[in-house]
Amino acid sequence: MIRIDIATLFPEMCEAVLSASIIGRARKAGKVEIHCHNIRDYSPDPKHHRVDDTPYGGGKGMVMQPEPIYRCYLDIIRQSQSLPHVVYLSPQGQVFNEQKALAFREYPHLLLLCGHYEGVDERVLERIVDEEISIGDYVLTGGELGAMVITDAVARLCDGVLADASCYEEESHMNGLLEYPQYTRPEVWDGRQVPQVLLSGHHANITRWRTEQSLDRTAKKRPDMMKKYRQQHPKG
Ligand code: SAM
Repeated sequence: MIRIDIATLFPEMCEAVLSASIIGRARKAGKVEIHCHNIRDYSPDPKHHRVDDTPYGGGKGMVMQPEPIYRCYLDIIRQSQSLPHVVYLSPQGQVFNEQKALAFREYPHLLLLCGHYEGVDERVLERIVDEEISIGDYVLTGGELGAMVITDAVARLCDGVLADASCYEEESHMNGLLEYPQYTRPEVWDGRQVPQVLLSGHHANITRWRTEQSLDRTAKKRPDMMKKYRQQHPKG
């Protein structure tokens, strides 16, 4: 079972998200192990629990100090008795995608480090971080939303979290294409009929229709993905 630790100044933000819905149930059922740690608990300043200071060289904002983060990292190793693959959430990182989620699923232990304010003292990043990941080319106030995105995307790929592997294998991005359209009851809504082929019970025709739809909507919605797909599947 994968273990994911999240080091943050706002663990309550992460707990709220990770206690709900599918991931919350998977945690309760012991399918994934997720722990949120408050970096402030590791401040060497017992009185004010300080974790940040002004940047050397001047400039606006505050920078997270190295020592509380390093202590938090060491405590996670002590608690888990394992060395995590450490990911720093950063707008400067490689952009996260489904392939990255699949790669992260293979690590037995991930530690997601969330920055805040102006960021984190570079020296602790050099000391503990294995890779930097961004969730998109924009700047957020903190790494927590990114850590939630990664945790959700990785956890749903783990055994027993969804009903079975087919639940994620046919989804958008798994094979370089977007998924076909989905319909449920009623058969007619707002004068719009569910495509007849889906009511036919003819599995081969349904599969063919879904493949065509998938190719068609990828070409329309994401021509960039379609171009890549065509390069990888010249005859498909
Ligand atoms: N000064 C930093 C820079 O310009 O590269 C940005 C710091 S940002 C305001 C504060 C924190 O939010 C970062 O340390 C990082 O953890 C997180 N963050 C911001 N944008 C992000 C993104 N696109 N992906 C992942 N994390 C992000």
